Amino acid sequence: MAHGDTKDSDGAAARLKELAAFYREHPVTGPEGHSYISCEPRATAVTPGLPFNANRAEYITASVREIAEHTLAANPQAGPLPASAVEVYDWMREHLEHAPETEQFRAEVIEYRQWLEHCLETGDHETVRKQVRKQACPKCGCWGLMWMAVRRRAVCTNSECTDQDGFSTALSLSRLAHAHVTTRKNLRRASAT
Ligand SMILES: [Zn+2]
Repeated sequence: MAHGDTKDSDGAAARLKELAAFYREHPVTGPEGHSYISCEPRATAVTPGLPFNANRAEYITASVREIAEHTLAANPQAGPLPASAVEVYDWMREHLEHAPETEQFRAEVIEYRQWLEHCLETGDHETVRKQVRKQACPKCGCWGLMWMAVRRRAVCTNSECTDQDGFSTALSLSRLAHAHVTTRKNLRRASAT
């Protein structure tokens, strides 16, 4: 399966690596007996001056858990999780290689959405903004999507493109990711024929 258009040097894994850089990773046992990755502070600070950020550790754990849960739901034979959190995306792709197309599609959506989330988590709104500009509005098809950082939504600037109450169409990161992966898939299909 082609890995889409996010370069390896700047995919979800690369961003997660950046996020996880401050923590030591060691597996803990999850609710189903699968090992999850936790990111706890180092017993001895090897990077003095970098405070342990509990919220960020929780954020990373939640991201990894979402990947693990989706993969295990689609392929209960998968597992154990890789020792390093940044390898979960490769792990997911590997174990969903023979999964139904819908599961692979969902996996791509989750990975792309997490990449955007990781970007935002490090304050990189510019990358998200660029991605939004490259995406046509899934509702009206125009190229007028605009990233609104405060709302964490991509808003369609086509004045005709509104919901039933007259508000501009606003896409969550999930809907944005769904639209992106759908476009990517259609392009792949078109180039394959
Ligand atoms: Zn629109």
